[in-house]
Order: sequence, then structure tokens, then C-alpha cells
Amino acid sequence: MGRYISLLGSESSKELARLSGLKIKEEEEKDKVKITVEMCSRCHTKVLQTMRYCPTCGNVVDPETRQKIDEVDRVLERKLLRILRKPEIRTMLLS
Ligand SMILES: [Zn+2]
Repeated sequence: MGRYISLLGSESSKELARLSGLKIKEEEEKDKVKITVEMCSRCHTKVLQTMRYCPTCGNVVDPETRQKIDEVDRVLERKLLRILRKPEIRTMLLS
């Protein structure tokens, strides 16, 4: 009976080690995915994906943030163009 328990104990500890080993491997994989490197579209500096901005030129690297800024830019551009089309604004700028 005692032998059986010790055998079972060593087996389960092996199993535990295997399981924890697998867990560590999985965590490492996750970290690898997190630390992917992207290239800055403006200055071609390698930027970690975890960083939102390029450390060299301040360009937004994070795709989600970039999309939001692009949307705001488009809205502002449209508004600006509408203002610039007004004749009174044109004469003001040209004078
Ligand atoms: Zn850059």
C-alpha cells in the first residue's frame, strides 16, 4: 500500500511538473506575441507594438490609435475645407 502511494506520488509530481512546464511555455508564447516589432511608417524605426508612439518621430504606431486619429483628421479636414470654400474666408486669407 505504501509503495503504491509513493509511486502514485512520483507520477503525479511528474505530471505536475509537466503541467507547470506547459504553463510556463504558454506564458512565454504569449509574451512573444506581445513583443512584436513594427516599423514606423514615417521614419522606418523599429517600434515595439506595445508602444503607441514611435520614439524617434512621435508617429502613432498603434493601429487602433492610428485609426482613431485618422478618423478625427478626416472630420477636421472636411470641416476645414468647408470653411475654406466660403468666399468671405477666401478673401480674408488672400488679403
Ligand atoms: Zn517614426
